[in-house]
Amino acid sequence: MTNLDGRVALVTGAARGIGAEIARTYARAGARVGVLDLKEDLTRDTVAAIKDAGGQAIGLGADVSDTGDVERAVERLVQEFGGLDIVVNNAGVTRDNLLFKMTEDDWDTVMAVHLRGTFLVTRAAQRIMVERRYGRIINISSTSALGNRGQANYSAAKAGIQGFSRTTAIELGPFGITVNSIGPGYVDTEMTRATAERLGVPVDRRLAEIASTLPVRRVGRPADIANAALFLAAEEAGFVTGQVLYVDGGRSVR
Ligand code: NAD
Repeated sequence: MTNLDGRVALVTGAARGIGAEIARTYARAGARVGVLDLKEDLTRDTVAAIKDAGGQAIGLGADVSDTGDVERAVERLVQEFGGLDIVVNNAGVTRDNLLFKMTEDDWDTVMAVHLRGTFLVTRAAQRIMVERRYGRIINISSTSALGNRGQANYSAAKAGIQGFSRTTAIELGPFGITVNSIGPGYVDTEMTRATAERLGVPVDRRLAEIASTLPVRRVGRPADIANAALFLAAEEAGFVTGQVLYVDGGRSVR
């Protein structure tokens, strides 16, 4: 198994879903993990699961779109664990609507969390990484970057994350820092279950419908994304940078 012994990782949006699974996976691999979500209270379950399994983690309450929150969270993590080697920009929200019904607030909220959040966390983290001449930054994009009805805001933000990752890969590469994106396809989490409920479709039926359209004939699990994030976080992945790794059961090639 990939070894992250001695590494310090920060995972945003890690109270639940894909972020929680990445945090637990990194801790199992030996990293000490900053589990960041909107409020420290929300991180309790993920932190407890890591500690119960013998790992080390702290909960950090911060809104990734708030500069002060982000700076304080990164500072606290560095003080607590003495560095920062791996960042996963995973925090996310959806405000789906067809374009003609999309409000400015739907647009601004999605841009703030995904794009501004990824920018602020990466900018804070790279200061420490550049000094240490080492870093792994993993930004969670989506197959929606390729286009998805009802998600003009989310699709634009997730495509933006890919451009941001490519450019920061160029700027930070000389300092031993890689930057890559993961593009998950449909993963069964509270985010996607909420979408099914909003559409008035029973969750199981929606999962089965989506699975039937995919080459691998199943929807994704958080662990599918966490396994890819573990590969990209490894020291051995140091020649992989500026890439988008779609983890989507074949959605992007079907
Ligand atoms: P989720 O809704 O289950 O979890 C998202 C987490 O982010 C929550 O804990 C939430 O509190 C946190 N969060 C939201 N806004 C935040 C903010 N401003 N600051 C800090 N934390 C914040 O979602 P998920 O399905 O686990 O998705 C995780 C990531 O993967 C997101 O970026 C999402 O866009 C992306 N993604 C998900 C899927 C999918 O099918 N589930 C597919 C492609 C991409």
